[in-house]
Amino acid sequence: MRVRCGFGCAICGVTITEYEHFYPDFSQATIHDPDRIVLLCPTHHGLVTKGVLPKDQVAAASKAPAAKQNGYSHFSHPWFNGIPSLKIGGGGIIQGTPIPIEIGGEQLLKFDLPESGSNVTRISATLRDPTGSQILKIVENEWQVIGASWDFQLIGNRYIFKDSSAKPILIMRMEAPKFIAIELLRTSVNGTQVQITEQNMKIGGLTLSDVVMSNCGVGISFN
Ligand SMILES: [Zn+2]
Repeated sequence: MRVRCGFGCAICGVTITEYEHFYPDFSQATIHDPDRIVLLCPTHHGLVTKGVLPKDQVAAASKAPAAKQNGYSHFSHPWFNGIPSLKIGGGGIIQGTPIPIEIGGEQLLKFDLPESGSNVTRISATLRDPTGSQILKIVENEWQVIGASWDFQLIGNRYIFKDSSAKPILIMRMEAPKFIAIELLRTSVNGTQVQITEQNMKIGGLTLSDVVMSNCGVGISFN
């Protein structure tokens, strides 16, 4: 599944999406023309299939997707209900640590325990591409899309973010409710190059693997 121009359901911005061939209908579609396919959440897809939502409305929404209008998408993904553990770079694991990685004072990821009355952990994150440009900001589970020239794919429980040349920047496996595994990260934060693979983690000139930490305030801090 691939999202182009915008992020999430074209009508409501929810980030769990399905394809809708709005012209022609899927049964008659012979090619996957991205200009004639729109992403919809299961609810809106159902409304289109039942004929409740007219195709013209879907076509209009595809030209002006909700996430682009609003500047953010809704995070309606698997919930974590404590501080999730982070599996990272060749057997590494960071447990019970609200700020697992901080580079040059910037928190790549931050977990806040649920607010009272809720059982959903609040996840905040900053994602920059390998040139250091910020493309996505997640503030307490609310996704704010910043750059336009990137793509998002959801394959099973893998969240895949790609840069404008379709190379993955971040591959994250969500194993709710306990683990998040970072399978790949290519980023640059305030001039520090960061590369995380399944083998190891390279931050600046430093190579780390098998990093095991638990119950720290900040896990890896690089300045
Ligand atoms: Zn929707």
